[in-house]
Amino acid sequence: MSTQSTTKPLSSVRRDDVQPICPHCEAELSEIHTRKINRGPFGIGRGFVFFCPHCRKVLGQGTQWYPFPG
Ligand SMILES: [Zn+2]
Repeated sequence: MSTQSTTKPLSSVRRDDVQPICPHCEAELSEIHTRKINRGPFGIGRGFVFFCPHCRKVLGQGTQWYPFPG
């Protein structure tokens, strides 16, 4: 007897027709703005933040080790 049905991982569904909503101002986000931030004493380890274009609150941040395209 298998218990596969209880260990099934969550499935990821791509929904390009549904707009995400900002958790701060609850505006629908047709786009998310990003901005480069510099961190580190040597100018390496460039980071960026995602923010809401409506209320400009930060939704998340990340880092990358190569120049941000654009
Ligand atoms: Zn917002």
